[in-house]
Amino acid sequence: MMKYVYQFSEGNKEMRNTLGGKGANLAEMTSLGLPVPQGFTVSTEACTRYYDDGRKISEDIEKEIMENIEKMEKVTGMKFGDVENPLLVSVRSGARASMPGMMDTILNLGLNEEVVETLAKKSGNPRWAWDCYRRFIQMYSDVVMEVGKKYFEQLIDEMKEKKGVTQDVELTADDLKELANQFKAEYKSKIGDDFPTDPKEQLMGAIKAVFRSWDNPRANVYRRDNDIPYSWGTAVNVQMMAFGNMGDTSGTGVAFTRNPATGEKKLFGEFLMNAQGEDVVAGVRTPQPIDQLKEVMPEVYDQFVEICHKLENHYRDMQDMEFTIQDKKLYMLQTRNGKRTAAAALKIACDLVDEGMISDKEAVAMIDPRNLDSLLHPQFDAAAIKKAEPIGKALAASPGAACGKVVFTAEDAKEWASRGDKVILVRLETSPEDIEGMKAAQGILTVRGGMTSHAAVVARGMGTCCVSGCSAINMDEDNKKFELAGKTFHEGDVISIDGSTGNIYDGAIPTVDASIGGEFGRIMDWADKYRTLQVRTNADTPDDAKRARALGAEGIGLCRTEHMFFESDRIAAIREMICSDTVEQREKALAKLEPMQQGDFEALYEAMEGDGVNIRFLDPPLHEFVPTEEKDIEQLAKTQGKTVDEIKAIIAGLHEFNPMMGHRGCRLAVTYPEIAAMQTRAVIKAAINVSKKHPDWNIVPEIMIPLVGEVKELAFVKKTVVETADAEIKAAGSNLKYKVGTMIEIPRAALTADEIAKEAEFFSFGTNDLTQMTFGFSRDDAGKFLDSYYDNKIYENDPFAKIDQVGVGKLVKMACDLGKQTRPDIKLGICGEHGGDPSTVEFCHNVGLTYVSCSPFRVPIARLAAAQAKIKADK
Ligand code: PEP
Ligand code: MG
Repeated sequence: MMKYVYQFSEGNKEMRNTLGGKGANLAEMTSLGLPVPQGFTVSTEACTRYYDDGRKISEDIEKEIMENIEKMEKVTGMKFGDVENPLLVSVRSGARASMPGMMDTILNLGLNEEVVETLAKKSGNPRWAWDCYRRFIQMYSDVVMEVGKKYFEQLIDEMKEKKGVTQDVELTADDLKELANQFKAEYKSKIGDDFPTDPKEQLMGAIKAVFRSWDNPRANVYRRDNDIPYSWGTAVNVQMMAFGNMGDTSGTGVAFTRNPATGEKKLFGEFLMNAQGEDVVAGVRTPQPIDQLKEVMPEVYDQFVEICHKLENHYRDMQDMEFTIQDKKLYMLQTRNGKRTAAAALKIACDLVDEGMISDKEAVAMIDPRNLDSLLHPQFDAAAIKKAEPIGKALAASPGAACGKVVFTAEDAKEWASRGDKVILVRLETSPEDIEGMKAAQGILTVRGGMTSHAAVVARGMGTCCVSGCSAINMDEDNKKFELAGKTFHEGDVISIDGSTGNIYDGAIPTVDASIGGEFGRIMDWADKYRTLQVRTNADTPDDAKRARALGAEGIGLCRTEHMFFESDRIAAIREMICSDTVEQREKALAKLEPMQQGDFEALYEAMEGDGVNIRFLDPPLHEFVPTEEKDIEQLAKTQGKTVDEIKAIIAGLHEFNPMMGHRGCRLAVTYPEIAAMQTRAVIKAAINVSKKHPDWNIVPEIMIPLVGEVKELAFVKKTVVETADAEIKAAGSNLKYKVGTMIEIPRAALTADEIAKEAEFFSFGTNDLTQMTFGFSRDDAGKFLDSYYDNKIYENDPFAKIDQVGVGKLVKMACDLGKQTRPDIKLGICGEHGGDPSTVEFCHNVGLTYVSCSPFRVPIARLAAAQAKIKADK
């Protein structure tokens, strides 16, 4: 029979898949002899079964859970539901990959009126007993019954006001008892039933709620962003409670063995006396820095520091731990590899190598490539920031610079951002429901909360700038305004925040590109040592090319030549070309474009210093170039010597019902071979010129024909290219070599890749179009319906961001195999947006591509992901 429940004493850290990260580490800490309140883990397989069985916990699993409660009772000497000696437990989620704050937790489970009365008397600490009970009712109602936190928070606020106090800890036992009764009444009014008194019923309700929380909207969004499959499920940890709210000799805290923002090797964390875990994370009270625990409880502090060292050495990585002190006794509730900023990740990895703890290969493997993105983002312009006067300062929770319009709700952040506004989300404090708004914002500013508050942790993970805990702000969320430094800010007002200093500024401060070096360079060098997949860039302009080269691009995998035509001085020539009636007229217009293209190509060759430069010939439907404004149409009519009506007729003639599948790509060159001829001349002449200047560079231009679906159309265009190129080379007395290849971006091209390879010397997978045409939906409009596909679990990811390995991937693989059959040394690359996505990079490595090509800022991500793919494959 399948085993679904494991005591902590039965597991170890290798059992993440079954026990989840938290469960596996609780088991590991138990076996290391650390003070862990004992308990058991209900496995991820039980979660999968819960869903398979129609969101039910089957009788056999329920039985197994209750048997494990009995085992717990033996270990702890307490009894579940007992009045005299009750066993109280926490119920927490714990997936394979950590998903901080995304799923649910219930504390103090096992309490009812009778138990709490006895506990209050026996412990001599009625305040604690009633505090536990009111917390339990509150959490259970919220998490299990989904009543909503706000009703309970309102009751607490009313009680504090009535008693004339500001802090929860100032409420007395009687106040808390009254609150518990009010909570139960609230529960009954919302649910219709009395609050459950049977601990078994409470436990099953809580476990179900944690399983259910695997599928809550914020967890689904988090998984999508972090490549965590839905099929994994979460485990549930049932653990004996350790009470941090027993009075002034108790407390709770969170700590990292190294600073998660900077990587500095120094214990970093916060604690709160007389509190339970959620108080620290929720940011309701402002916690004390961990160092101060040394003064408050020196022995406990020393013991904790020793455990930190032990855990870091054991896991060979920075640890993020939760602990509770119950009446001067320390308990460890969790350890995990800590989330960190990109800068901290690089520093920690390098330091661990220097400390002899890990190898450079392990350093490369431990960094999340997606994290690097935040390092590459803008910072404030140094001169401008020096002159600027901050209007407030709070915690520098997540680095980076952000400037934008103030919004007050996550929904507004999402909506404004979708309209193209840059926004700063300003909140009293954030909660997991805010995740989508946080993602849409440039930066996050909160009034409450410490460095380990929800806002801080989540923003750091996302690489979004965050300043937290600005208590100087006088907030009025309901009326969408706040006051700071004597000024009232309304929705839409612009502010700037600095996530590296915690400073807040009125108005916009200019930002500059990030500069990288030091540890970044070391990690990148190590990555380059291990990877075999090359990384090129998609660059259309000389500036893009230079930026990408500085970030390590080993060539250009895609230059979209049409992007060179959009500037105002060039668009006129291309419009002239489009409006031409004869080949001669068209050639005359093209002749104006030729030197411009040639100049840009020369700059691209220069930037790449002899590495491959792949020039893709004109691809978009021509209507993209024609004017829409009346005055531009009139201007064009004038330069073309035509009437406005004639120009309008030409524009109308370019209309297509489905332009993405219309007259574009190589079809343009089939209709107008003179376009391909002009582009060929520009490519070849540029290469010859730059080769003359740099005789040591071996420039071999790569000419790429887009949107091919039939070998004969490629052969047709190639003929023009070869004839033109050979004539140019001959005329220049050069011996330049060049290659002609194609994009594989139409399913038919993938299916007939053996034929296509007879003409194509290289393939580059255009996975944007290939995805569009394989799925049969538009790359520009899929956003309209993808959300309902996620909600209904039809897709887990955006297929335009992360390659669909099952379908599109099958075509890629097939095309690689067929292409190699015809031309064993064929060069294979990818240049769709997917080329910078780490999971796609791994796929590309595994199918044997020569290179990936991605936008300049993603080059380092791809370099690291390529190294990780190789290291993983070698394992
Ligand atoms: C592609 O289709 O993947 C591609 C790179 O070309 P474009 O995005 O320009 O259509
Ligand atoms: Mg394309």
